[in-house]
Amino acid sequence: MKVYILDNGYLECDQNWMVAMSVVGTRDCPRAATNWIRIPVFAVLIDHHGRKILYDTGCHPAAMQGYWPASLQGLFPHHCEAHQSLTHQLALAHTAPEEIRTVVLSHLHLDHAGNLHQFPDADVYVPRKDFEHGQALVRRSPDPGDHGAYIKADLEVPARRYHLVDEDQEVADGVSLINLPGHTPGLLGLAVELGRDGTLIFPQDAVYTPANYGPPVRLSGIVYDSLAFLDSIEKVRSLAAKSGGRVMFSHDMEFFHTLKRAPDCYE
Ligand SMILES: [Zn+2]
Repeated sequence: MKVYILDNGYLECDQNWMVAMSVVGTRDCPRAATNWIRIPVFAVLIDHHGRKILYDTGCHPAAMQGYWPASLQGLFPHHCEAHQSLTHQLALAHTAPEEIRTVVLSHLHLDHAGNLHQFPDADVYVPRKDFEHGQALVRRSPDPGDHGAYIKADLEVPARRYHLVDEDQEVADGVSLINLPGHTPGLLGLAVELGRDGTLIFPQDAVYTPANYGPPVRLSGIVYDSLAFLDSIEKVRSLAAKSGGRVMFSHDMEFFHTLKRAPDCYE
């Protein structure tokens, strides 16, 4: 079994989204400047002895050409060079999109579900509560300003079948879905038990950065349920302790630069 990290460029954003209260005004500095940072976006391809499983899909290629509303382009501008397109990254991992019959989405936010349209024949695993929450948000009003970080078109993509996940479960031998709600009403982390490289734990946006992980845990600036967010981080911590696994933080540029990226792989 092999695991490839697929680089999908980066977003720029205010650091307060990643770690809440990163910058706090004081009497002496009431207008403290925010930190404008870069955060990586990546997907994960698992080559499970020939069966290809894709975990998350990155941002839509036309995100900054009007596919995303202007408000989200301003909050989270996406930068992606040609070699960072999902198609190119899959090719680095010797994979064509049509070979992928299983897609797992950690959640349906814009930087995770943006390329789902490339896999109309796949079985798609999504966290039930996030799927239902996202669908309700994008349908209750035509104004994208009411849709949070969901893009309506991403939530209208046809698939062979959507599997709405409530329980932790294996999607293949040694590949487990772990429910980590809090950032969104439902969120699926993924753990892969490899040989040489041990267990890799991808909590995606349940744990953006080492600063969120702590201890002590620090909340991010995008939290649906703060108590569930704390519980989920402790669930990741105990899973890491039990398995000896490595936690793969989702949106930390410094950490991302320590990872092997396609065409390199973990095995
Ligand atoms: Zn994200």
